[in-house]
Amino acid sequence: MKEISCKLLVIGAGPGGYVCAIRTGQLGLDTVIVEDSRVGGTCLNVGCIPSKALIHVADEYARMAGMAGSGSPLGISIAAPELDLARTVEWKDRIVGRLTTGVSGLLKKAKVKIVNGRARFRDGKTVEVETETGTQVVRAENVVIATGSGPTELAGLPFGGRVISSTEALALTERPGSMAILGAGYIGLELGMAFAKLGTKVTVVEAEDAILPRYDRELTRPVERQLRQLGVDLLLGARARGLASGGEALIVETAEGAEARVAADHFLVTVGRRPITDGWGREELVLDMDGRFIRIDERCQTSMRGIYAIGDVTGEPMLAHRAMAQGEMVAEIVAGHRRAWDRRCVPAVCFTDPEIVVAGLSPEEARAEGREVRVAQFPFSANGRAMTMEAEEGFVRVVARADNNLLLGIQAVGKGVAELSSTFALAIEMGARLEDIAGTIHAHPTQGEAFQEAALRALGHPLHI
Ligand code: FAD
Repeated sequence: MKEISCKLLVIGAGPGGYVCAIRTGQLGLDTVIVEDSRVGGTCLNVGCIPSKALIHVADEYARMAGMAGSGSPLGISIAAPELDLARTVEWKDRIVGRLTTGVSGLLKKAKVKIVNGRARFRDGKTVEVETETGTQVVRAENVVIATGSGPTELAGLPFGGRVISSTEALALTERPGSMAILGAGYIGLELGMAFAKLGTKVTVVEAEDAILPRYDRELTRPVERQLRQLGVDLLLGARARGLASGGEALIVETAEGAEARVAADHFLVTVGRRPITDGWGREELVLDMDGRFIRIDERCQTSMRGIYAIGDVTGEPMLAHRAMAQGEMVAEIVAGHRRAWDRRCVPAVCFTDPEIVVAGLSPEEARAEGREVRVAQFPFSANGRAMTMEAEEGFVRVVARADNNLLLGIQAVGKGVAELSSTFALAIEMGARLEDIAGTIHAHPTQGEAFQEAALRALGHPLHI
């Protein structure tokens, strides 16, 4: 049995773990990272990047299909596009390959030792890794648990055969004729809209009475409209009960209490993600839990000294950029820096059509905190750049304290608004007030001008509406 010692051991090389390891390596700490599967974790291999690649292909295809035949109002007409999904997947895999190779290179450059295999705690300072060449024991002064999350199964619908998770959906090499999607959260709708654009007949089954239940209706309404325009059948307030015998149809209890059957080639289950808290020897430790997640404090320290946890395994929002920010912070803490989680917001983007961005508090959340707020929105239908991009649907909304105009939240829905998310987060992080946004010269013509106009409108003197 081989043994190595290090200052820091990171378990899991997803965005949380690999960023943490790169930063400790940069700081000169002796670092080991263990990865059971592929460097890059969910995000690079089967999550953020592959899904955005598929969405891009679907958008391109739909755009071309819209121009085919009679021609589009833009004055362009082309022959109907054809799709070779196997080539699409190859293209997506090349992007993933470039990124994961890049991450391995960055880890090596930072002198991080990468061990491939499954890690399991023996005790709080010792981890055994099952590698292809035998067991490797790693003794570490500090350990970071960054084991991430996996897809949640639905009772009565275990994964296998026609019942698939996002991982399998992103690897399909033939366009399905039909697909039923269980769960109208962001993952289900991002993939559902992409497949609908590629020509798949999509049905969405959601137990709540609205799509994207975590977002307010004003933001989700344009997405719902587009879903209907794409011919997606929405069964809201409906519950999947299991597969009919033969497995070709899903039995659904509708909102009215009736039984419906949805036949489909694939049943894609996207009802959430579960933290990976088992399979790595948690029973050898004494870790406090916070529901399904590992409990952490503002330094990502668990209830055991020298053991930290970051990323999806620590709770919501389960997003790659939160995991990365935690990873970077923990690296500096282990290196002796004084750091604590002081971020004012974790922006979130739904890459649906149109896209949704939220940063900070929604009007309801702010009011629920007992705050008096000023809320204003500016529609893209009054924004010149949006008109030139055929992107007039949607708006930017600001939420500010009524007493001093401090921005508490910014939201937007519209084509391409994902790129505004950093501006929104920056404004909140810097403690911007409405006057700061209104007083910043926004380049013309850009969609960002809608942010300035929303701030002006909240101040009572919009210029372009
Ligand atoms: P993960 O990325 O899950 O990585 C954990 C790693 O730990 C894995 O590689 C796993 O193999 C390894 N591991 C686990 N146990 C062990 C063990 N015992 N030994 C060794 N290794 C182990 N987030 C966004 O911010 N934006 C998006 O657009 C977005 N889109 C998504 C789309 C899809 C389809 C999915 C599924 C997710 C998406 N996410 C998105 C979420 C994002 O992927 C996760 O939030 C992020 O990957 C979490 O990072 P992490 O480091 O905590 O864990």
